[in-house]
Amino acid sequence: NKDLQGKVALVTGAASGIGQAVALLYGQRGARVMVSDIDETQGQQVVAEMQAAGGNAQFYRADVGDPAQCRQLVQATVAAFGKLDMACNNAGITGEMSLTADMSLEGWQRIINVNLNSVFFCVKYELEVMLKQGHGAIVNMSSILGQVGTPTLAGYVTAKHGVIGLTQTAAIEYAAQGIRLNAVGPGYIDTPLLKDFSPETKAGLVALHPIGRLGKSEEVAELVVWLSSDQASFVTGAYYPVDGGYLAR
Ligand code: NAD
Repeated sequence: NKDLQGKVALVTGAASGIGQAVALLYGQRGARVMVSDIDETQGQQVVAEMQAAGGNAQFYRADVGDPAQCRQLVQATVAAFGKLDMACNNAGITGEMSLTADMSLEGWQRIINVNLNSVFFCVKYELEVMLKQGHGAIVNMSSILGQVGTPTLAGYVTAKHGVIGLTQTAAIEYAAQGIRLNAVGPGYIDTPLLKDFSPETKAGLVALHPIGRLGKSEEVAELVVWLSSDQASFVTGAYYPVDGGYLAR
């Protein structure tokens, strides 16, 4: 299925995990893809894999916590491929894990910057291009933790809730101009983001998902690509869980 032939996509945090799976699936469906990350080595590997499969992809290094780099990333995408049809603002970190009263000020500011401000920066500059074109679809990476809290992750939880609010607001503002924005909420997905979790912690996380296992990056990518595609033409301002039933409990 090459239904994204002729389209241009941008993915942040695309060197690993969910972002990598999203970039690969956009490419498999025929889109030209700008693969972006702070990790250049891994990012170039993703591009090489896509090119080996006959795809058209490029890497651009950008730290999404820096608005100037987000602006340059969007400009570089348009310079490389001529337009921007779809963007998945996915880059994120776990950040400091401590109870709220123990959280350092730096830890709080860093997680809000990397997981929330970054999405605003990217959306702002993506919208600039999409408004000129008169169309575009943006998918922002939230989480089940954009809907509920969990101990020791107040900054992460706050950022992921914020991503949904930003997505809803911009979706309302730009719906009439042909631009759709949606947020995706994965449950726990088996990616390098969970590398610091002990086997016992991971087993505990599995138990929170009625499906009885962690999710796969590819299962999140399917949803992101559908929301980005013209098949989802009446879907905007929505939060879609992809969480093995986590939030249904
Ligand atoms: P990951 O660690 O495998 O990949 C994240 C990528 O983002 C990495 O390649 C990393 O280099 C990049 N990155 C980190 N900081 C960056 C920055 N400042 N600028 C640019 N790139 C940066 O993690 P993942 O599990 O694939 O997570 C992707 C997104 O999905 C994140 O937003 C995360 O919060 C969200 N999410 C993950 C899970 C999960 O269980 N894995 C669940 C819900 C939501």
